[in-house]
Amino acid sequence: MGKTVELYYENAYINEFDAEVLSCKEAGDGKYEAVLDKTAFFPEQGGQTSDTGKLVTEGGESASVLYTGIRKCEETGEDEIYHVLDKCIDAGTSIKGTIDWEHRFSNMQQHTGEHIFSGIVNSEFGYDNVGFHLSDTEVTMDYNGVLSSEDVARIEKLVNEAIWKNVRVVAAFPSEEELKEIDYRSKKELTGAIRIVTIEGYDICACCAPHVERTGEVGFLKVVGVHNYKGGVRVNILCGKRAFEFLTEEHDIISGLAAGFSTSFDKVVASVDKLKDDNAALKADLLTEREKLLGYELSGIDKSLKNVFLFKSADTDTNLMRKTVNKLAEDHEGFCGIFAGDDKTGYRYIVASGNAGGDARHVAQLLREKFGAKGGGSEQMVQGSLSGALQKDIADCCNNL
Ligand SMILES: [Zn+2]
Repeated sequence: MGKTVELYYENAYINEFDAEVLSCKEAGDGKYEAVLDKTAFFPEQGGQTSDTGKLVTEGGESASVLYTGIRKCEETGEDEIYHVLDKCIDAGTSIKGTIDWEHRFSNMQQHTGEHIFSGIVNSEFGYDNVGFHLSDTEVTMDYNGVLSSEDVARIEKLVNEAIWKNVRVVAAFPSEEELKEIDYRSKKELTGAIRIVTIEGYDICACCAPHVERTGEVGFLKVVGVHNYKGGVRVNILCGKRAFEFLTEEHDIISGLAAGFSTSFDKVVASVDKLKDDNAALKADLLTEREKLLGYELSGIDKSLKNVFLFKSADTDTNLMRKTVNKLAEDHEGFCGIFAGDDKTGYRYIVASGNAGGDARHVAQLLREKFGAKGGGSEQMVQGSLSGALQKDIADCCNNL
């Protein structure tokens, strides 16, 4: 890689190293870009985020490595690895580099887990991994073929068996001659020195990233999402500590639910289903009772009144509002309407023209002009919503129609 020796190819476990700053220049926003004679910081590439960490001079001055990338060197045209720093460290300075090992090791766990998964998908189904993304929050693989949820569950089990077998993961740069004899997975036609990562018995793949030395270090792999994507599937996985943290969070949620329902874990789903059914039955009962109540209210309204407007609570069912407005419109000559809501959160409204005719759109227009109401409809009925108006002002406006 240009001028820089890539220490992560010598050993993926180097997390501290001595090096010399070859150049350091300002990059705007108070940041600097440094090139080193050697580095263990893995730059962003192949869908994987970069390493971060710090550089410390012999004098104890420390700069954070915020990002590591690869770009074409302006002078030589060769690829060069640069480190984005929050402070300048002059060219010629000796430094000790320390990478954020927790972050890097997590990336190694996710990446090796991905290779095992993709290797098994390839050998079992013949599909290729055509897209890989490893961010700090998400690991996704895109396969150019469809996997059912049963397929994915079986692969997940096979991957975990491979992890528990603790087989070796070997990275090497074979010669061109040797390479011809190796059947390896690759996303693209590669040129130059090709690095081959072999997971014994499971996968052989061209890859530039650091991996764990044995599959056992992946810990375990959990599939956390599968959906159809571009004619194939996108699979979300988590490995090692990330999988542990994810499942711990899920476990806490389910524990909370189980405690809330005073039941055991295995009965949480049934309890939620029952709650949904009970809720639907209560809603139906409530609707029936409200309908009855409105019936009483309506029978008490003087039929000689021209316009009738009622105000109801925000949770009033829209169908019931419509039904009631229709009933009122049969009995009264003018405009009849219901406003459901309150002064704070606003109102939904339905207004109909009464038995003497009249254009309900006139009311919608008035509400729009006075209160900025939204909505519209037909000559017979309009509906919409408004907010920021007080009930008494709306009532005044409607009573003066
Ligand atoms: Zn890879």
